Amino acid sequence: MLYNKITEEILEQFRNIAGIENVLIEHDLLEKYAHDETEDLHYYPEAVVKPANSEQVSLLLKLCNEHFIPVTPRGGGTGLSGAALPVHGGLLISMEKFNKIIDIDERNLQATVEPGVITEVFMNAVADKNLLYPVDPSSKGTCFIGGNIAHGSGGPRVVKYGTIREYVLNLEVVLPTGEIIWTGANTLKYASGYNLTQLMIGSEGTLGIITKIVVKLISRPLHNILLLGSFPTNEDACKAVSAIFRAGVTPSALEFMERRGVEWVIEFDHLQFDLKDGVEAFLIIEVDGTNMDTLFAEAEIINQVLEENGCTDVLFADSSAQKEELWKIRRTMAVSVKSNSVYKEEDTVVPRAELPALMHGIKQIGKSYGFQSVCYGHAGDGNLHINIIKGSMSDEDWNTKLKSGIQEIFELTVKLGGTLSGEHGIGLVQREFMSLKYSEIHLNLMRGIKEVFDPKGILNPGKITPDVN
Ligand SMILES: Cc1cc2nc3c(=O)[nH]c(=O)nc-3n(C[C@H](O)[C@H](O)[C@H](O)COP(=O)(O)OP(=O)(O)OC[C@H]3O[C@@H](n4cnc5c(N)ncnc54)[C@H](O)[C@@H]3O)c2cc1C
Repeated sequence: MLYNKITEEILEQFRNIAGIENVLIEHDLLEKYAHDETEDLHYYPEAVVKPANSEQVSLLLKLCNEHFIPVTPRGGGTGLSGAALPVHGGLLISMEKFNKIIDIDERNLQATVEPGVITEVFMNAVADKNLLYPVDPSSKGTCFIGGNIAHGSGGPRVVKYGTIREYVLNLEVVLPTGEIIWTGANTLKYASGYNLTQLMIGSEGTLGIITKIVVKLISRPLHNILLLGSFPTNEDACKAVSAIFRAGVTPSALEFMERRGVEWVIEFDHLQFDLKDGVEAFLIIEVDGTNMDTLFAEAEIINQVLEENGCTDVLFADSSAQKEELWKIRRTMAVSVKSNSVYKEEDTVVPRAELPALMHGIKQIGKSYGFQSVCYGHAGDGNLHINIIKGSMSDEDWNTKLKSGIQEIFELTVKLGGTLSGEHGIGLVQREFMSLKYSEIHLNLMRGIKEVFDPKGILNPGKITPDVN
């Protein structure tokens, strides 16, 4: 679609709406907003505006809708599917000034928060009141809660506590045409027609811009136990995952890491970690709760299941510092891989018991196309992040053959009953694979929803559905 360019007159109106100091057009200032964490992709917006309230967002959207200018909302810019990239130029609306925690309501166990609050800042504020907001993506130190909602994000604790979908009660949203709505009610349930709150979650900034958020909080578990299991093969570790649940334990985190990923983290972070010969894969397993005896009993069951599934060593983290070290290895894995090689990250999710088959298939596909991969992820949810490493692959093969390899990985994922993207969203880079899973009828329903919200197609065009814009 051919959108209009931002003219000097329109820029002047942006300045009137948001203030001259909140409108950026200089190339070097735009650089930060031209990329997120997706590979090395760069798309420059024509202008960045940093509004401070819903009314300003509304005026900006009305203006852009009237003049047919594309608009891309942006949170912390940590996305891994290119969803915040302004592929058609136009205006980028940065939500960084929406950084207030408006209210933590301890009576109702709810909080009202602006979308530009950094996730970890919010988690800590809630923890200070002895409450828990359990949605903790590994990027929690830099991503925004609004970006998390727009991506339907998860993290290590989804396995027990669920994704962000379980916690959002109500949203204030500015529609692409400028109207401001609330999507639901500040109640734990309601049955009043279509659930617009859930529709907004995971919509990747294509249906509206989220400007206020009401979330549910829960009480804080007092204790946890953290284990690290070492395995001789990836498949052994993957088999142990579903066995733990079948043994009657639901861990509060269950993460998979491949040896190569751990090696790269050690190198990247100069960590002291005893990486034993013959170990190819790890599971980080956490149980949490209020009763230590129950947790010890659960840890004992897990220990047994691990042994039965080929685990060669179980480390019980015995201090907060050791726990934090283990978590750091997992959280740093994405950046370590990125710093080591040109790579492509694909996000897959399968029913949990199919993980061994997925893992086996990925390595087989890699062999036939000549690429290596480093896998890690939220194994307890069946969610595996596959980092395809360029390594010694020729530029030509990387640029031409790789796409078919990725397609085969997604075909396998779908065959195993899974789908594309457990949590990183479709954005720009996975949309060409959407039809491997979803029929034209399904995709047309999605296109129809988009048209109802955004008849002119100005909001975050080029994302999610293939062949639109
Ligand atoms: C090291 C690392 C670890 C990660 N670990 C995890 C993980 O454990 N779990 C996980 O789920 N993800 C993870 N991610 C991916 C990423 O952090 C998440 O997708 C995160 O939710 C993105 O938030 P953000 O604020 O950075 O959003 P951005 O990347 O800025 O934007 C993401 C999408 O949200 C839209 N958007 C942003 N704000 C708004 C708003 N206010 N209204 C409407 N739309 C909006 C954008 O247009 C875009 O489509 C990780 C990324 C990195 C780099």
